[in-house]
Amino acid sequence: MEQVFAPWRIEWVERDETESIDGCPFCVLPARKPTRDRESRIVARSQHSFVLLNNYPYNPGHVMVIPDHHTGSWDALNDTELLDHARTKTATINAIQSAFDPDGINTGENLGGDAAGGSIDDHLHTHLVPRWRGDTNMMPIINGTKVIVEALDDTYDRLHDAFTTLQPAVDTSHQMTDTENKQQETRNMGNNADHTSAMQQDADAEASNQAVTLRFDSHEISS
Ligand SMILES: [Zn+2]
Repeated sequence: MEQVFAPWRIEWVERDETESIDGCPFCVLPARKPTRDRESRIVARSQHSFVLLNNYPYNPGHVMVIPDHHTGSWDALNDTELLDHARTKTATINAIQSAFDPDGINTGENLGGDAAGGSIDDHLHTHLVPRWRGDTNMMPIINGTKVIVEALDDTYDRLHDAFTTLQPAVDTSHQMTDTENKQQETRNMGNNADHTSAMQQDADAEASNQAVTLRFDSHEISS
């Protein structure tokens, strides 16, 4: 029998015994404080969707685009949510290409539970799996969680950077422009410059632990 290739059969599962999520993980994880996004492996958030790393990726960069709305049916999503999901998926494809430069990308869903090979069938999620010519599924033969965790940290950083770079419309309302920053720095010279730079470092660290906010140039996804 010819084997059907379906990398998205590697479903999201809890990382280890110490992590116990009460309820639907695709509802629980994004509801945590944004400062826990890195820990939850949420790398980007849009108005109605988020991007989650797979804990046991088929390949580096294996993520899922998940609507916030808890439903297993595409019919239950309204037009705004559908458009937001499509735009988030597009942004994620661009981020994967920028971060990993794969030869191709598989995208897919398991609808209808175990018959389709999925494990979480009551909350829609679209897998995106980067592919390279001649790649094989390496993760299952890597013995040891540490390797996977390190690989996931690297994947998180790469995608986080890619989303940030590719996201020109990021909210800048509370951020200072470069010129304003320089003026501020000049003002702070000689008095509390060290304090300011420490604060800046804290802000940078906090930003790198939070998902990149995706904003789309679309009236339909404004609320
Ligand atoms: Zn859910």
